Amino acid sequence: MEQQKEFFQIIKEIESLLKANLGNVKLTLEQKKRIERIEKLRDQKRQDISLMDQEKNKFQTLYQHCEEELNKMQTGTPAFDVTETQALRILEDIEQLETEIKDAIEFLAGSERSLEEITLEASGEIKKVSNHSANNAARVSSLLEEFPTTQKEQLSRLFKQSIPRTFMAFIHNKGCSECGIKLSLVDEKSIEEKYEIKFCKGCHRVFIPTHL
Ligand SMILES: [Zn+2]
Repeated sequence: MEQQKEFFQIIKEIESLLKANLGNVKLTLEQKKRIERIEKLRDQKRQDISLMDQEKNKFQTLYQHCEEELNKMQTGTPAFDVTETQALRILEDIEQLETEIKDAIEFLAGSERSLEEITLEASGEIKKVSNHSANNAARVSSLLEEFPTTQKEQLSRLFKQSIPRTFMAFIHNKGCSECGIKLSLVDEKSIEEKYEIKFCKGCHRVFIPTHL
């Protein structure tokens, strides 16, 4: 009987190990998202810089064209004045673009640095979490070895399923606390009094005796 009772403690321990591993999956995803977010920002900045560079080249060609025109023109004529004003405006646009490009490059350097730091930190976290999960999985396997063959197989099948919230059920109102399916009096007695390992026919969870 004592050994039977102990089985349920082991099931509880396995459940908490598996829950911890689910949490670890979430933690790993969060760390990966951190890296992705900053990578996206960096790529966007790179794209912005390349677009601004293209724009700057266009303005420079336009400016050169104006200069050539001005060289051909006679100074002081209204046409000369118009082209000269146009050239000055283009020059202003080029200067503004250069400032914007410089800012963007500085921002990019900053995000490259933080990307490096965050990647290092995140991969450290991911490694830690993955070691923890591997240890938990090994512990679950060795705990499963404690059960007699039939239950061991049923339990490992159960633990492989993606059952929401919990693998455990209790008897409540003569039925399963999780899915509500009714139990026979014989099943109820074997769980509550004989501490037998029984699985719910409705939701496949394992029954834990109420007063354990
Ligand atoms: Zn059930």
